[in-house]
Amino acid sequence: MAGYEGAEVSGAPFDVGALVADVFHKGWEEFQEFVNPLIAQRARLADEPLRLTHTSGGALGHEDGYAIEDLHGTQMLGHRNPAVAAAVRAFLKTDAPNWYPARVNPFVGRLARRLCERTGYSNAYFGCSGSDAVEAAMKLARAATKRPRFLALEGAYHGCGVGSTSLMTPGPFRDLYGTLVAGAETLPFADTDALHRALAREDVACVVVEPVQGEGGVRPLPPAYVTALCELTARHGALLVADEVQTGLGRSGHFALTETWPRRPDVLLLAKGLGGGLLPVSAMLTTRTLFERAYGANFQTGEAHNCTFSFNAVTAVAALATLELLTDDLFAMVSRKGRLFHDALVQRMHGSPLLSEVRGVGLMLGVALRPLDHPWLSFEHFGFSDDDHEGLARRPSVAPLVCHRMYQHGYFAFTCGHDWSVLRLQPRFEIPPESLLRFADFLRRETDYLLELT
Ligand code: PMP
Repeated sequence: MAGYEGAEVSGAPFDVGALVADVFHKGWEEFQEFVNPLIAQRARLADEPLRLTHTSGGALGHEDGYAIEDLHGTQMLGHRNPAVAAAVRAFLKTDAPNWYPARVNPFVGRLARRLCERTGYSNAYFGCSGSDAVEAAMKLARAATKRPRFLALEGAYHGCGVGSTSLMTPGPFRDLYGTLVAGAETLPFADTDALHRALAREDVACVVVEPVQGEGGVRPLPPAYVTALCELTARHGALLVADEVQTGLGRSGHFALTETWPRRPDVLLLAKGLGGGLLPVSAMLTTRTLFERAYGANFQTGEAHNCTFSFNAVTAVAALATLELLTDDLFAMVSRKGRLFHDALVQRMHGSPLLSEVRGVGLMLGVALRPLDHPWLSFEHFGFSDDDHEGLARRPSVAPLVCHRMYQHGYFAFTCGHDWSVLRLQPRFEIPPESLLRFADFLRRETDYLLELT
């Protein structure tokens, strides 16, 4: 390696080829034994395509040879995007430091500048996950406003830190943890009066919202509510935090969906695909003024909120390479493809008694399904009681069953985390349009099949 002579710690080259072969042999079971047996068990029970051993043209490949389109949404540029991978490889061939002890990392500086130029914000903080970005926003809001309360909406998913979990909609993702952050409250979805009443006490630090709720059922905030949010937060001195972890970076057809709002939120959060699907990174974008209000008192407060590895160069390079790919032309294509997919889903599902609604923006779509009216097609029938599975018996089974049927056609589809009656569809941007049309055809076929069983 260029410029490196530390023989004691350089050792023999690590054999990655052997590792990959061995991991594909035993790593699945190691995950089950040493990480999370329940995730592994669920994947097996639901027959999820598990042994995915390669990538090709942005899709995943199963060891048995067939391709899988991943509709989860973390890989908006496709799995192992070659441009991002090449940038990371090229950076690793230089001898530039990855981490800077003074924390003044020039690669991070460049990434911050690019993001600010792109969005109109003037200050950036980086974390390693969406949850990190939400935590940073909550702390910024408390420090800047000196107010105690945090508001979020029913149906929200904002992450798994103690702060972000406090903003989570009530249910199994939140309630396991007992008392969370004092001052965090959930408001009814899109209820302007409730928002007004909550803000009128003038003690709210911030309101955190997803422009389109992802895990809550792919639910866009109604435009009238967005207008009220923008106006009321400004009037009552609460920061407006837009969690665009799912909607951001082009998925909605815009760099940030909040570009279309009446005012720019005080804080914008981006994550998921920011590292090109290769490296974990999230960003909290805000203004220099707010940063100074929160942290500008002295040198100690200036460093009060910092994560060690959120300032590293490899990740910044991956994010910079990703930003190069996120052009307006690409976003226009996302919007066109999103409309095509939306219309195909509506058209193919027309007349199906199972269809409730197709909704969403760009390539962030949800198919809301009606419950399957047969006791056999319920979790209760499979022996999951209310007591031991956090109410699994009463959860809708329809979207998980549809996902199960779609695996055999080469689509890894998902249910919304909080609402198992909604299919959550977030394909990579370059997915061939024919593949979207095929998905719509198979969806009709499989929902018809499930109906025949009832
Ligand atoms: N906000 C939203 C809207 C999300 O969907 C998620 C993750 N699904 C998060 C925050 C948390 O992101 P992460 O899992 O990267 O911590």
